[in-house]
Amino acid sequence: MATSNQVKTYLAYWFQLGKKVVIQGGQEAVLPHPVISGNRYSDQFEACWNYLQSPESGDCYLEGTAQTITELLSDQWEVSDCARCAMPVPILSVGINALECPCIDLPTWPNTELPQPRSPVDTNARLNQIRERLT
Ligand SMILES: [Zn+2]
Repeated sequence: MATSNQVKTYLAYWFQLGKKVVIQGGQEAVLPHPVISGNRYSDQFEACWNYLQSPESGDCYLEGTAQTITELLSDQWEVSDCARCAMPVPILSVGINALECPCIDLPTWPNTELPQPRSPVDTNARLNQIRERLT
């Protein structure tokens, strides 16, 4: 099943490409900006993520996809990499997977000249890891 962290990363990546999350069953759409702040997720993104997991947001799903966030967090779904663009996409844990990646309607994607979406990197933790490896 997709872990909460995988679904969070999935949203963070697509938000960085300008994809919105549709909430309240299609009545509104949200796109937190910025997604990353320094080496962590921004407060806007964290607030949005909390909201999307709460009952108040209703059915919510990434633009261009049919799976709600709640469904993604169930054991029917996993998050894998798109064959075309290596972005995270939901796949069914079992059965036939006839899904298209949300990149299908992004004609300019993949684009290796643009900065790629990323997760926040904790520079200090990484430096410490390197330091430990050296000693
Ligand atoms: Zn793709």
